[in-house]
Amino acid sequence: MGKLNSTHPGLSESEKKLNLNPSKAQATFVGNLSNAYKPGISIGLLGGGQLGMMLCQAAIDLGIALHVLDPDQDCSCHHLAHGHTIGSFKDYQTVLNFGRRFSHITVEIEAVNTDALKQLVSEGVQVYPKPDHLDLIKDKSQQKQFYKQAGIPTSDFVLTQTGAEVLAYPDFFPAVHKSATDGYDGRGVVLLADPSKVNQAFDCPAVLEKKVDIQTEFSIIISRNEYGQIAHFEAVEQVFHPTKHILQYLVAPASLPPGVSDEAIKIAHQIVDELDYVGLLAVEFFLTKAGEVLVNEIAPRPHNSGHHTIRACRSSQFEQHLRAVLGLPSADTSTHSHAAMLNILGAEGSEGKAQYTGLTDALSLPGVYPFLYGKSLTRPFRKMGHVTVVGTTREEVLKKAEMVMVEAR
Ligand code: ADP
Repeated sequence: MGKLNSTHPGLSESEKKLNLNPSKAQATFVGNLSNAYKPGISIGLLGGGQLGMMLCQAAIDLGIALHVLDPDQDCSCHHLAHGHTIGSFKDYQTVLNFGRRFSHITVEIEAVNTDALKQLVSEGVQVYPKPDHLDLIKDKSQQKQFYKQAGIPTSDFVLTQTGAEVLAYPDFFPAVHKSATDGYDGRGVVLLADPSKVNQAFDCPAVLEKKVDIQTEFSIIISRNEYGQIAHFEAVEQVFHPTKHILQYLVAPASLPPGVSDEAIKIAHQIVDELDYVGLLAVEFFLTKAGEVLVNEIAPRPHNSGHHTIRACRSSQFEQHLRAVLGLPSADTSTHSHAAMLNILGAEGSEGKAQYTGLTDALSLPGVYPFLYGKSLTRPFRKMGHVTVVGTTREEVLKKAEMVMVEAR
């Protein structure tokens, strides 16, 4: 570390030149923190995918033993977790039996059996995020109603029960129709350019939204523990695949017009406070072409848009999640490097045993870090890993990211 900066201790001269703004990422402290942290503590984790895998890596540093419940014998966590119980996190009895073994339960996926989690809470298990919040978030219609009730800016919407119902809202077109449950990574989202596309609408409970004229999509990852201590990372810009609606790469910190980031941070704080939320929350935003900041959706766990925090911030989203779940003090969330994050996706047309192309070339570039999720089978657009690119300027990072071409075939 070089000479210290009086307004932000810990920021070196060279880091100041990065033009990073530490005030955009910070923790606020309210109340007394728990003294109960005992290294060696076990946490039960529902889901054993890549987010769980990176939670396991962070848990090791803190002396936390993560035990995973996942039906897949070959899941990303299998070789890393302290224990792996093979079973469905959607099944009431399986979740109940698993959860009774731990003082704390958390999730890396929201599609879990929340009835079992509610029973565990009644038996004294600390379940974070809270089961009610998982219920709210896994249903997009409930999420949208929450934003409306809490005065949180979001796109105009109505709730529909059948596909044909969209015809009752001609002034919503062009519209985006989203199935209320079970959608992720763009599955469960369809653009309806005009009412003639009614046959593509979802014939199940869904949300019909006016199509937003998006300037930029960005997200903020925020954490809150049971004592009300909040910390957030700087905003991250997301770039999506034009047809599959899947995140293609992200750039951090986001380059946003003045005031936008502060407004979004305020909204993210408002959401976690309003909900009395505990855990890590990813808040996805649209900046509209007219300059409005709207919440698109929230996710109650570490998020694809926070993977760069492992290499570009002073703590990672995974560590923050664990700290929040255990009621521990927040870590330093400030940024030390510019970063880009590229998903390694299964190539279109490839299915079967995964073979990677471009990895050695990527490894030969300075500041380029592949993360592989240990999935043996690939399929088109499956998230197989990611590459984080770090550097001292946004331009440098974007230039290097253009040179990274890793695919799973
Ligand atoms: P998922 O939960 O599958 O990620 P989202 O609700 O985030 O689904 O939608 C996926 C993508 O679809 C968004 O990132 C955005 O690009 C686009 N999208 C969603 N809602 C709207 C909207 N109201 N207007 C314009 N584009 C939208």
